[in-house]
Amino acid sequence: MESVNPATGETLETYEEHTDAEVDEALDAATAAFEEWSDESFAHRRTLLTEVADLLRDRVDEYAELMVAEMGKPISQARAEVEKCATGCDYYAEHAEEHLADEVIGTEADAHTLVSYEPLGPVLSVMPWNFPFWQMFRFAAPNLAAGNVSLLKHASNVPGCAVAIEELFRDAGFPEGALQSLLVGSDEVDDVIEDERIRAVTLTGSVGAGRSVGETAGAELKPSVLELGGSDPFVVLEDAPIDRTVRSAVYGRCQNNGESCIAAKRFVVVDDVYEEFLDRLVEGMEGLTIGDPTDEGTELGPMAQEGLMDGLHEQVEATADAGATVHVGGEPMDREGNYYPPTVLSEIPDGSPADDEELFGPVASVWRVDDEAEAIERANDTQFGLGASVWTGDPERGERVAREFEAGCCFVNEIVKSDPRLPFGGVKHSGYGRELSRHGIREFVNRKTVWVQ
Ligand code: NAP
Repeated sequence: MESVNPATGETLETYEEHTDAEVDEALDAATAAFEEWSDESFAHRRTLLTEVADLLRDRVDEYAELMVAEMGKPISQARAEVEKCATGCDYYAEHAEEHLADEVIGTEADAHTLVSYEPLGPVLSVMPWNFPFWQMFRFAAPNLAAGNVSLLKHASNVPGCAVAIEELFRDAGFPEGALQSLLVGSDEVDDVIEDERIRAVTLTGSVGAGRSVGETAGAELKPSVLELGGSDPFVVLEDAPIDRTVRSAVYGRCQNNGESCIAAKRFVVVDDVYEEFLDRLVEGMEGLTIGDPTDEGTELGPMAQEGLMDGLHEQVEATADAGATVHVGGEPMDREGNYYPPTVLSEIPDGSPADDEELFGPVASVWRVDDEAEAIERANDTQFGLGASVWTGDPERGERVAREFEAGCCFVNEIVKSDPRLPFGGVKHSGYGRELSRHGIREFVNRKTVWVQ
């Protein structure tokens, strides 16, 4: 496995893949670690999670630089990601015990009846490269707090992050085997899910990977959570505060180099403000500072892999060939590294890639609609259902529209984001299950009914 710097094409490091025997040892170690870890008190788990949060803050520059080197996000955003991981650990250090406290439910007068929440065992986590720390932490913090342990199969282009995360938990004092990285390709995932020592699986990634993991988990009757792709609508109503809306549109589309599942991808704008919004969106996208992701001022860096940039460009070309207008961008940049420029498309034909598929890069697709009702219809006209936002001067109207969206995370006058206090996840082809909050920590536990007569 190779770490390749997407800004330069330089190979940073090569890692040996784990052999079958090493995977087998890791599964044994996870089983042993679960025996020990699941018996620990919440107080002990809290101490170690707090230590993880402290180490993340101490090592913020080291981890941020590692992410930038392996996948190219701007350094300021990488630092924010490390801090977010620490916040996630703090949240579960503080709240895991209360989220998993016994729930006494009155039934018969002479019976004591309750639900207890008990960990399941080793959980396989299959993770993507786009938020190489946060995706893993938002699964790991609640699950380790609940008493589970995990084997992490990270994306093949971020092995350095995978190894660093494993070391971090070891340094914080977690038992050997509580969180181990499996350096294996995706073709090994089915075998690991099928192994009887694995009790559940979570995957964050594309729809195709989700289907494959969901199918194997289903055949094995193992619980799964799938956090998949999205093509979030960003609905602009005629009473939207235009300055803030445009600023948020540009950031919401281009944060993390446009490689975010919950990026605003489809801009649905009512006729009254369409021309103004489109002009200002184009201006805002053109104004982004593109550059070396290690520079503090960079707002847009290279895409993580050359193949991803080529795939995005094919989608843009096919959408333009079908009749869309390209207002800015639309061709890979003529410079070293996988740089794709901020791009704005409009007049998107139905059935073209920008309409039907997820565009995982800095490309905004804009639709003109007559009114609120058509905006909602257009927003929901997608296979995906991860996030959605609506922009309006009237929060009550916004809430009413948000309730109409077919999506898991709906925001009014704010870009879609994850927060440890709130559940995160999708509907339709964006997957199932929830991460974060008390909902996330209860995904991989035995909700055990206890009846005492
Ligand atoms: P990906 O190609 O699906 O890879 C994600 C992970 O799944 C990697 O570890 C990958 O391993 C593995 N994988 C790929 N194909 C697999 C298969 N058939 N069976 C088992 N495992 C498989 O996705 P990506 O390109 O890294 O990430 C981008 C996608 O993830 C986008 O669609 C994005 O929207 C989605 N995403 C969703 C969320 C969310 O919370 N809903 C968050 C972030 C990203 P290899 O690297 O070895 O192939």
